[in-house]
Amino acid sequence: MITENTPGFDAALVWDQHGCLPLHRNSTIDDLHEYVRAGFDFVSVNVGMDGPWQDTLETLMNFRGQILDNPSWTTLAGTAQEVSKAKEAGKLAVAFDLEGTEGLDGKVGLVETYYQLGVRTMLIAYNVPNRAGGGCHGDPEDGLTAFGRDVVREMNRVGMVVDATHCARRTTFDLFEHSTSPVIFSHSVPSGVHRHPRNIDDDQLRECARTGGVIGINGVGIFLGDNVTATEDLFRAVDYAVGVAGIDHVGIGLDYVFDQAEANGFIKDDPDSFPADGNYLPSDGAPIGFVHPRQLRELSEVLTRHGYSDSDVRAILGENFRRVAAAVWR
Ligand SMILES: [Zn+2]
Repeated sequence: MITENTPGFDAALVWDQHGCLPLHRNSTIDDLHEYVRAGFDFVSVNVGMDGPWQDTLETLMNFRGQILDNPSWTTLAGTAQEVSKAKEAGKLAVAFDLEGTEGLDGKVGLVETYYQLGVRTMLIAYNVPNRAGGGCHGDPEDGLTAFGRDVVREMNRVGMVVDATHCARRTTFDLFEHSTSPVIFSHSVPSGVHRHPRNIDDDQLRECARTGGVIGINGVGIFLGDNVTATEDLFRAVDYAVGVAGIDHVGIGLDYVFDQAEANGFIKDDPDSFPADGNYLPSDGAPIGFVHPRQLRELSEVLTRHGYSDSDVRAILGENFRRVAAAVWR
């Protein structure tokens, strides 16, 4: 039940480490108003999933331009301090993330270019192997390549957060070993909650935490369970992750997709990245469900009801990811 009386939620910094606007050429940022209405202060917006680098750059420039054109309600945030300033001013702070390193077109030097344009987080490979490392739907033993190690070193140098989401298991451990900055899972669900090739096991949760990183719990129904999206389902995954990784290492990365028809098109067109054992097209014909950003207020109530303190709730809603940003972004 969603109640109006949640002052703790309104005062808290609310941070979504991964959201998905439509990615076609004429996409607008209008859907970001949903995050404002839901009480969010920060969202990391996806600008590409290992597609052609030209498309990735075009998407990034499109979103970046629109955010700069709308200073009355949104702003680009390059530092954790700028996120705090945006919250004080009542604006939605935005940074960008890349799902995979193919946007670099094999050039380590482009890490800094993307950083300068507002990309603050990048994962290594999107579901299938690429030039930098392995994907979660490829061979689990695929590790970080020599190019991948160079990319990680450069990300550490410029201050871009290293993200192990969507990667092959071996690659995630290589990232924990090679990165000198905290490694995150921006949007993942523990396998202990539901078995899925995209989900992560307890060792991955623990080792991520050991780097100082944070696991952003994903709100996609087929990862949380049998296509389930109740706030209690999200809570179950959060609570499990806290039990394994600790209260300082769990956050939110809802992965909410605003244009679900577009996402279904990506899924149908690319059976290598979205194989049948991932159940991306549920056999009962029902569309994939998503936890909506508006459910976060209720999550804070559910956490409180289950004995989480105010500071625990604030850690999960945003302070943990803010800590990583403060440590890594420059
Ligand atoms: Zn993703």
